Amino acid sequence: MRYVSTRGAAAPVSFTQAVLAGLAPDGGLYVPETYPDLSGHGPSFALGSFAEAAGLVLAALKGAPDERAPDEGASDEGALGAAYRAGLWPPAATPLRQLGPGHWALELFHGPSLSFKDVALQLIARLYEEALARSDERLTVVCATSGDTGGAAVEALKGSARIDLFVLLPKGRVSEVQRRFMTASGAGNVFPLEVEGDFDVCQALVKGLFADRAFARRARLSGVNSINWARITAQSVYYQIAAHALASGGPVHVSVPTGNFGDAFSGYVAKRMGAPIGLIGLAVNANDILSRALATGRYERSSASAATLSPAMDIQVASNFERMVFEALDRDGEHVARLYGAFAERGCFTLPPRAHDRLREAFFAVSVSDSETEAMMVQTAAAPLDYLACPHTAVGLAAWRALPQGAPAGPRITLATAHPAKFPETVRQAVGAQPALPAFCRDLFDRPEAIDCIGNDLGVLQAFIRERSRAWR
Ligand SMILES: *Cc1c(COP(=O)(O)O)cnc(C)c1O
Repeated sequence: MRYVSTRGAAAPVSFTQAVLAGLAPDGGLYVPETYPDLSGHGPSFALGSFAEAAGLVLAALKGAPDERAPDEGASDEGALGAAYRAGLWPPAATPLRQLGPGHWALELFHGPSLSFKDVALQLIARLYEEALARSDERLTVVCATSGDTGGAAVEALKGSARIDLFVLLPKGRVSEVQRRFMTASGAGNVFPLEVEGDFDVCQALVKGLFADRAFARRARLSGVNSINWARITAQSVYYQIAAHALASGGPVHVSVPTGNFGDAFSGYVAKRMGAPIGLIGLAVNANDILSRALATGRYERSSASAATLSPAMDIQVASNFERMVFEALDRDGEHVARLYGAFAERGCFTLPPRAHDRLREAFFAVSVSDSETEAMMVQTAAAPLDYLACPHTAVGLAAWRALPQGAPAGPRITLATAHPAKFPETVRQAVGAQPALPAFCRDLFDRPEAIDCIGNDLGVLQAFIRERSRAWR
């Protein structure tokens, strides 16, 4: 299996190369040359373990073991077993919980840092480590986080012998529980850095690191941000499992709390690979670039991201959307490059009507306000459901009101993207109950924190990394 760039001007690469590179050299994102068809594997998805299902998806997206390049590794079993150990995760790593007639929550928050980001980061860490062991190298991983990627990356990479991790988080924009998952690991290879600014400022600093080619090379820099193809791969697994478990005859619809469009695109990939999925709902908060794009065909950034009750989705630009634009334009990379060139210059582009139609055939979108989010948390917390939803999940639940008229009936799945205990203040203010942390991380508030502040200065950040990265040479 080869991976091509959405901007059409980079040489195809292998799965492992695409994962390690992050961005393609022409500025585009990697996508597989074709989507393998796994529709015949329904029973394995519905009945097997998460690790088995992930094995199927990974093998299909990497290519058959005997066709793999030496840098790919012949087997993924070790990585998958370590990533999704029975015992650490509940027997069903991503359980479905019925919320009402024909409606289920797909709970993705049972991993070590209590958000769906663990599903992908646990796997990426193992894939990186295997690849580095094969080539006997070290790596510096940098990651900008709106709150949950950082914690998931820390949990996945803490104590790694070959990888040092630098996490950039926006000061004052993450919950205390989110912050502690980044600052209280006690690991010597993990460096949380507080940035003066919002998530987009953190992301711009990370982009600055990669843009300095000499620095990136000497630091052996790599990213685990949401454009990483391994994240899309891992996340597509739970869509396969849930859709096959619930579909009977017709497809299931899915509502996805959305920020960078990574999770939603993973659903699209699962669908292209044969999962019985109908419409995918893009549930966004006041940061509504995607719902505006779907309504008007115009993708246009706003002046600044708004701080909301669902901070992990407080972003202005949905990085993975470029992959969907590529599909909607019939994989015309040159056209994508033109549109994103305009976006870099003027902060907007308009999709041709045909591509806009394509989007609306696959997705619906809605912007959910903070007051609607709170109202939804109150509604689900009440009898008879008694279900505590995190604010992001509540945005997903509220999005069903926008399901298009005339959409075929079918089971509905709302992705529950974080544990309510990750946002105790927001949940308590809405419903008056304080959600408890699961037993395995109940000592989070007793552990000492360590964090450095780098303001908003690329030079300071580079010096910080140079002094600490074991990969530097
Ligand atoms: C990251 C995150 C999202 C948004 O996911 P994207 O892949 O960026 O669209 C939603 N909910 C939670 C809890 C998150 O941490």
